[in-house]
Amino acid sequence: MGVAMEKRDRPRVVIAGAGFGGLAAARTLAHSPVDVFIVDRNNYHTFPPLLYQVAAGELEPGDIAYPVRTILRKIPNARFSLGDIRGVDLEKRVLEIDGRSVAYDYLILATGTVDHFFGVQGAAEYAFSLKSLEHAITLRNHILGCVEQAALEVDAATCGRLLSFVIVGGGPTGVETAGALAELVQGPVRKDFPRLDLSQARITLIEAVDRLLPTLPEPLGNYAARRLRGMGVDVRLECPVARITPDEIYLQDGTVIPACTTVWAAGVRGDPQAEASGMPTASRGRVAVEPTLQVPGHPEVYAVGDLAYFEEHGSALPMVAQVALQGGVTAARNIERQMAGQDPQPFQYQDRGTMATIGRNHAAAHAFGHNFTGFPAWLLWLSIHLWYLIGFRNRFLVLINWARHYLFREHAACRILPSEPATSE
Ligand SMILES: Cc1cc2nc3c(=O)[nH]c(=O)nc-3n(C[C@H](O)[C@H](O)[C@H](O)COP(=O)(O)OP(=O)(O)OC[C@H]3O[C@@H](n4cnc5c(N)ncnc54)[C@H](O)[C@@H]3O)c2cc1C
Repeated sequence: MGVAMEKRDRPRVVIAGAGFGGLAAARTLAHSPVDVFIVDRNNYHTFPPLLYQVAAGELEPGDIAYPVRTILRKIPNARFSLGDIRGVDLEKRVLEIDGRSVAYDYLILATGTVDHFFGVQGAAEYAFSLKSLEHAITLRNHILGCVEQAALEVDAATCGRLLSFVIVGGGPTGVETAGALAELVQGPVRKDFPRLDLSQARITLIEAVDRLLPTLPEPLGNYAARRLRGMGVDVRLECPVARITPDEIYLQDGTVIPACTTVWAAGVRGDPQAEASGMPTASRGRVAVEPTLQVPGHPEVYAVGDLAYFEEHGSALPMVAQVALQGGVTAARNIERQMAGQDPQPFQYQDRGTMATIGRNHAAAHAFGHNFTGFPAWLLWLSIHLWYLIGFRNRFLVLINWARHYLFREHAACRILPSEPATSE
């Protein structure tokens, strides 16, 4: 494995991951006397908060993906490299990518998280994830495929299984996905399959604790449950999952729910490569960083975003985009301080609020110290997501698709698209 050892006039900052945290760091370093080298397994930046809308056929995958190289045109000291990161050699100070190694003077790790299945039998094999664009496309194809099969099915029980969608996890992703699937079934599916008996369709949201949206104030969780139930979603609280099979889901209380689709939105853990590379980890494999976001014992290495475990006022910061964006900026500024011979500064998170949309017209938001629900919260959610989406084209397309959905209850992207390479046969 060759190490990139070319002579360097300026310090090299290697950024692992072109998500929110990695790109925020690269932007902050745009005018610093460093060479920035950013690596990601995809040549695009994904906007995860809207993945569920791709899965529900509301948006096209390209609407929430933006080419990293296009973003970097405005950052002249940055280079991008496509590749799968395999680990970090902290002693040699190299990032290992596929068959090559890249030497760094400073390293910012921003590779995020992977699914965590809490040992639930069958979850890794049979539940659908919603962590990447690839997952969202796979899930969309599967859901639409199930509806097509149901339209041909004569056996009522099989038809019921095909039209039963279970979402595990009552956090923002689970709540938003449940609302979007309810609207998919009651909107485009109802219109496009007039002969399909939709009385058999069932959307179930399962949460292990006693309320939805556990990271938001309790009244917002209660509001989300009421609203989803009003949309026909079967919300089940205090129902830990025991086992998942391709067409059934077993709860710990003995209930069995027939369903050909189980979506896993119940938990994540830090990218396991950080732990494997010898970094100290805290809860769920996230890197236990210093208050400055440095990795203990390695002042030249930072971890930011979902990968970093950082406590403030006795509790861990949430895994949300704002924490990643602000962490990326802090890590980059601390590197600049280190180069200037100054001490890095502690990370100070400015909480700008948390929110979840619950179908058309409704959302639950906690922002500026207040709770918002209904249409005002939905407008807030809409504006913030449009603002943070990268690229004029993507914002425009998302806005058009949302308007179409709002006015006509139409989903723009209900297509089963090929996700495997074509064969010549
Ligand atoms: C479905 C979903 C909905 C969400 N909704 C919201 C929301 O509404 N509001 C909110 O604030 N937050 C939301 N989040 C959380 C938010 O997306 C994350 O907190 C944020 O993306 C974290 O940023 P990050 O930079 O740490 O990691 P990410 O944005 O996950 O970026 C990690 C990057 O690293 C790359 N990468 C990972 N491993 C490797 C590897 N081995 N090799 C090469 N590249 C690699 C990935 O391709 C990715 O580009 C949601 C997350 C999901 C999954």
